[in-house]
Amino acid sequence: MTEADRTRVAIVGAGPAGLLLSHLLAASGIDSVVLDQRSREEIENTIRAGILEQGTVDLLVSSSASSRVLTDGTRHDGIELRFAGEGHRIDFPGLVGRSVWLYPQHEVLRDLVAARLAAGQDLRFGASVERVEDADSDRPRVVGTDADGQPFEIDADFVVGADGSRSVVRPTVTGASTGGYFREYPFAWFGILCEAPPSSEELIYSNSENGFALISQRSPTVQRMYFQCDPEADPDALDEQRIWAELQSRVPGTTLREGTIFQRDVLRFRSFVAHRLRRGRVALIGDAAHTVPPTGAKGMNLAVADVVLLHEALTALLLENDDRPLDTFADVALRRIWKAQHFSWWMTSMLHVAPDASDFDRLRQLGELRSVVESEAGRTYLAEAYTGWPFETRLA
Ligand SMILES: Cc1cc2nc3c(=O)[nH]c(=O)nc-3n(C[C@H](O)[C@H](O)[C@H](O)COP(=O)(O)OP(=O)(O)OC[C@H]3O[C@@H](n4cnc5c(N)ncnc54)[C@H](O)[C@@H]3O)c2cc1C
Repeated sequence: MTEADRTRVAIVGAGPAGLLLSHLLAASGIDSVVLDQRSREEIENTIRAGILEQGTVDLLVSSSASSRVLTDGTRHDGIELRFAGEGHRIDFPGLVGRSVWLYPQHEVLRDLVAARLAAGQDLRFGASVERVEDADSDRPRVVGTDADGQPFEIDADFVVGADGSRSVVRPTVTGASTGGYFREYPFAWFGILCEAPPSSEELIYSNSENGFALISQRSPTVQRMYFQCDPEADPDALDEQRIWAELQSRVPGTTLREGTIFQRDVLRFRSFVAHRLRRGRVALIGDAAHTVPPTGAKGMNLAVADVVLLHEALTALLLENDDRPLDTFADVALRRIWKAQHFSWWMTSMLHVAPDASDFDRLRQLGELRSVVESEAGRTYLAEAYTGWPFETRLA
C-alpha cells in the first residue's frame, strides 16, 4: 500500500498547459503538484511550436513567467501568402493592431520550469500517471509510478489532464481514450531544422503546383522549414539534395539559403476535440482536450487560452467555494476551440494541394486565396485569427 500525498490541484503533464496553470495557481495562492513522465532534459529539448500569439506573450510577461520572450524572441508583424507566382503580405499591426512572436516552445518550457522550481513548486519528472480514481467525488486521486519505479497516489481537490494528445486522463472524462470528434488529413509536413541564415524575414506560406511549403525561422543561424508530404513518408528516405529541391520548387521567387540539416521529422495532421472537457472535479486542457493541424500555429496558444479559463474557474472553486465558473468552463472554452479548429482547417485546406485535387479544385483554391488577399475583410480575418482573439476571462 502506498500512502497518498495531498495537494489542492494535481496536474498531469509538464507541457506548456500544465506548467503555466501551476504558475498562475501559485500566484493565486493555490498549491499544486505537477507530474510528468519525461525527464526535465527531454521536456526542455523537444522542438515543437514556434509562434506565440500576442495574448500568450502578454500573459507570459505579465505573470512573470518569461521576460526572455521579449529579449530573445522576435516580433513578427506579418506573414506572406504566396501563390500563382505572387507574394502578398498580411500586415498584422496595420489590420488588427497586434503581432505574433517567434519564440520556440522549448524556450517557453525552460522559462516555466525555471520559474516553478525557483518558487519551490512540487514538480516531479519521471513520474508516470496511470489513471485517475474517484473522479465523481470531492477528492479525486491520481495513481502512478515515480522516477524510481515506486508506486504513488496523490489525493487532490481537483485533477487536471494536461498530458497531451495521448492523454491517460481523457478516458476518465470522456469514457474512452478516443472519445471525441476526429479528422485526419491526407497529407503531412516534412519538417527540417537546418544550420543556415534566414531565407526571408517573415514566414512564407506557399501554395504551389508541387504542394505546400512553409519557410519559417528559428534564429539568425538556425531555420525551420516544412513541405507537404505523404503521411506515410519516411523522414530518412530523402537525401539533403532532394529535400532542398522539394522545398525550392515550392517557393518560386525565393532562393533558399541552404545549410546542414540536423533534424527531420514527418508531422501528421489531425484535428480532434474531446466530447467532454470536464467530469466532476477532473478537467482536460491543451492537447489532451484538442489537437489542431499546425498550419494556423494554434496548438500551444489554444492550450494557454484553456489555462486562463481553468485558472479562473479553480480560483473561484477553491478560494471562494463558488462552482459557477467551473460549470461554464467547458462551454466557454469550446467556443474558442472550435473557432481555432475552423481557422486551422481553413488555412490547411486553402494552402495544401489534396492528392486527389481536380483542376476545378485547384482553380477554386486559387480563387479562394485571391478573395482573401484582395479584400481588406479577408486579410483582416486572417490577421485577427492568426494573432489570436482576446482571451475570454469571464466565466460566470
Ligand atoms: C512538430 C510540432 C510543431 C508544432 N508547431 C506548433 C506551432 O507552431 N504553434 C503552436 O501553437 N503549436 C504547435 N504545435 C502544437 C503544440 O506543440 C502543442 O499544442 C502543445 O505542446 C500542447 O501543450 P500541452 O501542454 O497541452 O501538451 P504537451 O506539450 O504534449 O505536454 C504534455 C506533457 O504530458 C506528459 N505526459 C503525457 N502522458 C503522461 C502520463 N501518463 N504521466 C505523466 N506525464 C504525461 C508528456 O510527457 C508531456 O510533457 C506543434 C506540435 C508539434 C508536434
